[in-house]
Amino acid sequence: MRLRNIPAAANAIAESEYCILDYTEHKGEWKKLFGNNHPLVMEIGMGKGRFLMEHAALHPDINYLGVERYGSVLYRALQKMEEHPLSNIRFLCIDAEIIPEIFEREELDYIYLNFSDPWPKDRHAKRRLTSREYLRRYDNVLKKEGRIEFKTDNRPLFDFSLEEARAAGWKIDACTYDLHNDEKMRKGNIMTEYEEKFSSNGNPICKMILSR
Ligand code: SAM
Repeated sequence: MRLRNIPAAANAIAESEYCILDYTEHKGEWKKLFGNNHPLVMEIGMGKGRFLMEHAALHPDINYLGVERYGSVLYRALQKMEEHPLSNIRFLCIDAEIIPEIFEREELDYIYLNFSDPWPKDRHAKRRLTSREYLRRYDNVLKKEGRIEFKTDNRPLFDFSLEEARAAGWKIDACTYDLHNDEKMRKGNIMTEYEEKFSSNGNPICKMILSR
């Protein structure tokens, strides 16, 4: 998702109390930012933030970090936060590539990946957020008992992700090719913007949960 350039976005991000600009300063100390010892959960490629905000409203005892590389997209999430402020969310306008540089080992409790960009060309496979290269980055910063949840309607990307996860030594704790009709896995499901759009077009939603 890339929205057209929005001039107000850069200013809003620079001025927002929710956007962390000095992210390199917080390595190993992210919990201090929230002023409590609650678990730290991250969504990578959060888009306009609907999923993250619904989670955060339901779980005030969990801290959430939303990662989105485009300021024009993150701006939409900021606008929503102005209307419904949540003290347990912060945003990072970064490329997920740099995650190991700004988090200490085992600093994150959980990672969500929702409808990640498919990068369909083989030569771009390393850019997929579920490639073994990215899984290694997550392995660096996720607690030993931490998990990754991934949802997509893109079957080739989902199959690629299963292969990459196995090759990188992750365990598939749960897997479905039709989340909305899976009695067990659909419980408590929070829809993302893309999920709503694609499932209303009749696309089945795939989901996997990974651990080590
Ligand atoms: N998760 C949202 C949803 O399900 O509605 C948005 C899905 S959208 C297809 C993917 C989002 O991930 C885009 O907003 C894109 O800018 C962001 N993204 C893709 N690669 C990224 C990366 N390497 N680092 C940070 N954000 C990324």
